[in-house]
Amino acid sequence: MLLQTCGLHAGYDRFKALFGVDIAVEPGECVAIIGANGAGKSTLMRAISGVLRSAPDMVLHRGVPIGHLPAPQVMQRGIAMVPEGRRLFPSLSVEENLLIGAQMRRGTGPWALESVYELFPILRERRASPGTALSGGQQQMVAIGRALMSNPDLLLCDEISLGLAPVVIRDIYAALPRIRATGAAVVVVEQDITQALTVADRVYCLMEGRVTLTGRPGDLSRAAIHDAYFGGH
Ligand code: ATP
Repeated sequence: MLLQTCGLHAGYDRFKALFGVDIAVEPGECVAIIGANGAGKSTLMRAISGVLRSAPDMVLHRGVPIGHLPAPQVMQRGIAMVPEGRRLFPSLSVEENLLIGAQMRRGTGPWALESVYELFPILRERRASPGTALSGGQQQMVAIGRALMSNPDLLLCDEISLGLAPVVIRDIYAALPRIRATGAAVVVVEQDITQALTVADRVYCLMEGRVTLTGRPGDLSRAAIHDAYFGGH
């Protein structure tokens, strides 16, 4: 197994947001995490990526406990996050933002400036532009490219479609198969259920910090997803 969370508890000071979450991601798999506002999706991504710490055994990467590791060490192991809101360095150029991702590079791998520019050709044209001069979709491409520059075996994507036009979302999601073709697994966090079901091999639904449903998109009924997402009655 590439990644496992085992009874993961996480939160903020005294506020608990996750209550014993178990998820698993196999090498090369695409897993979607769906759930309503505040369900705990971003908290789960932060706990996996080391932004939030947990007990060592609550997060396993290739069987190794990493729950206690800080984010830079988690990234060096091969887990990269595209955070919600993109978080580019606004005064730096596209290329400088991408090169920041390369500072966390581990060993050799498929990703470098050239391959990111092949994935998103518009970024080559805008390579000298500051982050602030980019459209929302272009900023999202930089955020994904920056994460890829570390050559991850697991890419965590937190709401990469948020606030973008449908045609731009389509372009961004079209990059995922090419990322997976390099052997990397991808976790996408989505509020948009349709988008998630289209792209994922498996889906987990979170509600109020707990997994309420898991399965393959083709095996899950609309009614079951609705109940898991909003709460059954
Ligand atoms: P969204 O789609 O709104 O991002 P989410 O499913 O990602 O929702 P989280 O952001 O993980 O949910 O939030 C889970 C819970 O933790 C919510 O109740 C939220 O208010 C709370 N929370 C999130 N971030 C913080 C923080 N920095 N400090 C305190 N509480 C937080």
